[in-house]
Amino acid sequence: MSEKTASVAVIGSGTMGSGITHVCAQHDHQVVLVDLSEELLQRGLETITKNLSRQVAKQVLTKSKADTTLGRIYTTTELATARDAWLVVEAATEDTDLKCRLFTDLDNLCPPETILSSNTSSISITLLGAATKRPDKVIGMHFMNPVPVMKLVEVIRGQDTSDETHDTVVALAKGLGKTPVTVNDYPGFVSNRVLMPMINEAIYCLMEGVAEREAIDEVMKLGMNHPLGPLALADLIGLDTCLSIMQVLHSQLGDDKYRPCPLLRRMVAAGHLGRKAGRGFYEY
Ligand code: NAD
Repeated sequence: MSEKTASVAVIGSGTMGSGITHVCAQHDHQVVLVDLSEELLQRGLETITKNLSRQVAKQVLTKSKADTTLGRIYTTTELATARDAWLVVEAATEDTDLKCRLFTDLDNLCPPETILSSNTSSISITLLGAATKRPDKVIGMHFMNPVPVMKLVEVIRGQDTSDETHDTVVALAKGLGKTPVTVNDYPGFVSNRVLMPMINEAIYCLMEGVAEREAIDEVMKLGMNHPLGPLALADLIGLDTCLSIMQVLHSQLGDDKYRPCPLLRRMVAAGHLGRKAGRGFYEY
């Protein structure tokens, strides 16, 4: 096994962590997947197994390749297991304090050469770098949902990210069959700076009774050629994630045009978080 295929650690086995694990394992990386409980890890593995079976059914993957992929995944609740990886992809809950703590812990656990990346949708990569003693080795790897399907990886350079770290991560993303696009570290980067205010505005349209949920989504699908309407997309992303991104844009850019819609806040407070909760703007 070459150094570059030795081991990737993925922190968080939710929507994104399970997808990142799937794609890394499918492309020959041994993956350590870390979450807070066995139950959460089991749920992540079930998602991966289901998505691999779907690829087999669609003849994208052979059954034996799917089995090999699953065999490359090791799950654990011990963060310390990440110390064997040459690259960590952090995909835990979108919470600034939590991620800063994780980066400090990972920095203490991992050898100095390990690259620490984050799949954050909106939290500053520079801030995460500053929580470590290796800001040159901290970078954003923003995969899109669903990870096995979507081509883009938005690669985010923090203030001190080195060229070497950047080039390694770009090469890795290409090796995963993805198309990396490099951007700089500003709130929401490019993807969510543009996408989230659109979703938030769609929620305002629903709250103000401009139209029914289906009508709002149909207008954007048929009129703008979006494959998914903004409310259905919000359900796919997770409404809690959407709310935290709007809060980051609002607080860090300081413009009221980024204020989160009160209906979004209410849905999150009610636990109607979208697909992962069985209920969001739609029922699943
Ligand atoms: P999720 O809620 O589905 O999963 C998060 C997982 O992290 C949970 O299983 C949780 O138990 C785990 N976790 C929390 N604290 C942890 C810790 N200390 N150690 C290990 N695991 C921990 O969230 P998600 O949608 O997968 O989002 C994960 C990250 O990816 C967030 O930063 C989010 O902004 C980003 N992201 C999400 C999407 C999307 O469409 N959902 C897209 C791109 C990026």
